[in-house]
Amino acid sequence: MNQDSDLSLRVKRPRPSNDFYESMMCLICSDFFKPPIVQCNKGHSYCQSCVQKTGSLLEQKKSCAVCRSPILLELRNYQLEQLLDKFTVQCTHSLKGCSKVVTLSQRPEHEKMCEFRPQISCYYKEFKNCQWKGDSGDLAEHLTQAHDVQELVRGMLFRYLWNPPNEHIWRYRYRVLKQVIGGDSEPFTFILEHYYSSDDKLLCFLIRSPDTDVKKRYRISILNRNDEANKIAFEGVTLNFEEFGHIKDFSKGDLTKMLLVTYQQIMSFSFVCEEDQAVYFSIQIQFF
Ligand SMILES: [Zn+2]
Ligand SMILES: [Zn+2]
Ligand SMILES: [Zn+2]
Ligand SMILES: [Zn+2]
Repeated sequence: MNQDSDLSLRVKRPRPSNDFYESMMCLICSDFFKPPIVQCNKGHSYCQSCVQKTGSLLEQKKSCAVCRSPILLELRNYQLEQLLDKFTVQCTHSLKGCSKVVTLSQRPEHEKMCEFRPQISCYYKEFKNCQWKGDSGDLAEHLTQAHDVQELVRGMLFRYLWNPPNEHIWRYRYRVLKQVIGGDSEPFTFILEHYYSSDDKLLCFLIRSPDTDVKKRYRISILNRNDEANKIAFEGVTLNFEEFGHIKDFSKGDLTKMLLVTYQQIMSFSFVCEEDQAVYFSIQIQFF
């Protein structure tokens, strides 16, 4: 094959326009469709995985963003799925160094495995020397399995062990919160972090969503056992790793995004448990 015929071959090959690529994008994730693709009963298409996530996030029936008709998870758009096989794009992580060109249908699988994808380290890297590295969405499962992190369910009131740390020891700890909304939705996982700064004599709490797609409002309250009206409450939105770095560096971050409690406040809310003589306080977490 000489150069000329090679050139003409290339010219004849269909060149999708920008409009075409736009029409291959899902309105929920603003990214290329990931199969399986499902539709509303008027024919607007979405990634099935996006519908499953968003439906539960909004706590409402899964309805089409364009026409408000119900989206039917079993109504696949096979023709659009076949089109995903026909066109290629560069891997999303090309700027990080990936040179792979993949079809739109191979793309989700490649990007899940791509060696250039962003990965996070385990929270316990520093003080338990855990070498785990992975996708942010897998962290909660890792924490539960490898570090015996406690799971909580929605609206749960629980006792928080409070061992006032001495001047030289700082403490931080995590709990995995599993939140289930609606019968048919996937459970969401959040992580409650606390950190006590002995320099500032401040205890701070924040709730993180390891999955960057998931955002949720929450209220966290520290309750006084003897006086129900007297509580410390904070309302916030779950944070992810890009928005908020390590909780140890909380004083460099936006302090309005977390619950801060002074040492004196905690002491006035805490109580000694008769069984184990340890000091606790009561905490409640609710998501909306
Ligand atoms: Zn989507
Ligand atoms: Zn529609
Ligand atoms: Zn890649
Ligand atoms: Zn780990």
